[in-house]
Amino acid sequence: MNIRSIRFRLTAWYASVLAAIFVLLGALFFIPLRRSIEGIMLETEARRARQIGNFITGPFSPSAHSGLAETIERFYAPERNSRFIRITRQDGTVLYLSGAPEDQTFAPAAVPVAEHWPARSAARRQALGSGPALLLAAFRAPAPGGGSYLVEVGTSSLSVDRMLSRLGLLFALALPVVLVVVAGGGYLLIRRALRPVDLMTGKAELISHHNLDERLPVAPSGDELERLAEALNRMLGRLQDTLSNSKRFLADASHELRTPLTVVRGELENLAQDPRLAPDLADRVGSLLEEAERLSKIVERLFALSRLDAGEAQSEWVRFDLAGLAAGTADQMGLLAEDKRISLTCEAEAPVPVEGDRARLKQVVVNLLDNAIKYTPEGGSIRLRVSALDGQAVLQVSDTGIGIPPEALPHIFERFYRVDQSRSRQPDGAGLGLAIIKSICKAHGGEIGVESAVGRGSTFRVRLPLAA
Ligand code: ADP
Repeated sequence: MNIRSIRFRLTAWYASVLAAIFVLLGALFFIPLRRSIEGIMLETEARRARQIGNFITGPFSPSAHSGLAETIERFYAPERNSRFIRITRQDGTVLYLSGAPEDQTFAPAAVPVAEHWPARSAARRQALGSGPALLLAAFRAPAPGGGSYLVEVGTSSLSVDRMLSRLGLLFALALPVVLVVVAGGGYLLIRRALRPVDLMTGKAELISHHNLDERLPVAPSGDELERLAEALNRMLGRLQDTLSNSKRFLADASHELRTPLTVVRGELENLAQDPRLAPDLADRVGSLLEEAERLSKIVERLFALSRLDAGEAQSEWVRFDLAGLAAGTADQMGLLAEDKRISLTCEAEAPVPVEGDRARLKQVVVNLLDNAIKYTPEGGSIRLRVSALDGQAVLQVSDTGIGIPPEALPHIFERFYRVDQSRSRQPDGAGLGLAIIKSICKAHGGEIGVESAVGRGSTFRVRLPLAA
């Protein structure tokens, strides 16, 4: 689980706020609850203390308190009811002290004497070591012959403690359950709310300059996500316009340049052949002609690319033998290789049927062989192989040339990308050959890959679908 995701952070925040509220409410609930229960118990004890006080000082008081113990035991049964009763005279003499309670929650003799006698009545919570406290109500009753008695009646806080701790346990058990339910529910809710973002991300990953006409899905929720999807779609629209404008510009520009360039080349060729031309001028015209030829090659390639971009490559879609096409092309280019004393071998015996634009696929073979010859030093060798493998037609051109450095490999199919020009003594080419090959392969539902090692050579592999 990604702890930095919006989903996780929102759920964690949600759950911790809830837990804090739960704990706070618990504390706010438990403290007053204990107070009010203990208050009710103390009131009862105070009533009893008053009754006993009135009784021992009233007209029916046991004479000289001789029958005090029996009377109290008969009426209040402190031991059986686990109650504490103590009657003290002002001089500190304890007139009566109840016995050990049945529930053993306190030892009556261990209950400290009240330090200050109240004017009338008082209530306190008497702590008794580590055990439960004693909820004590005291009543000061004036003695008939002067002075006063202090009647103390108490009960253990054990029952309240038990009830509250049971409630606390229930609370503690309920908290994680509530948290899991709320956090889980929140997580699912947030995931549902963010689902449009996932859909948009998935779709955005699939949109490239090839399918800029596609749009992100818009969930009609009327919220920020809908507005975001619409804004991104409008942006895609603007990008599409810009790209098609620049494609159109490339197509128009290369098309418009072809005619004047042909005229310039023609004129320069005528001029170069003019016998009246002085030798040094003829040389300069020759090099101008070379540059014009290079320029027109670049323009031709740009024009070809713009046609491929516009999807006009499949004009002549036919079924043919790729092996035959490759063997024929290798034959035609054999002379070029021979000039550089490079051995060019072709292994393409069995027919390999493909469907597509024959002229464009021939251009693929020509460009690959042309590059192999260009970037292989004299005495090297080039091998062209065409075979059918796993339902695919595979055309492979391997050379023993200068190779391509690893950092350049990911870029060589990009337009106008050329590996360091000083590597080759060939001034022609503008880094468009491989871009054209890639576009042609793509238009045929195929792909091109390369493996290369500097100083040892390169292998370009084209894969196309085999014709049925
Ligand atoms: P160019 O027309 O300049 O050759 P390409 O698109 O055909 O452009 O090739 C791009 C770059 O890839 C070239 O600059 C060249 O350095 C490198 N390259 C292409 N084919 C080979 C090869 N067979 N051996 C070594 N480098 C190659």
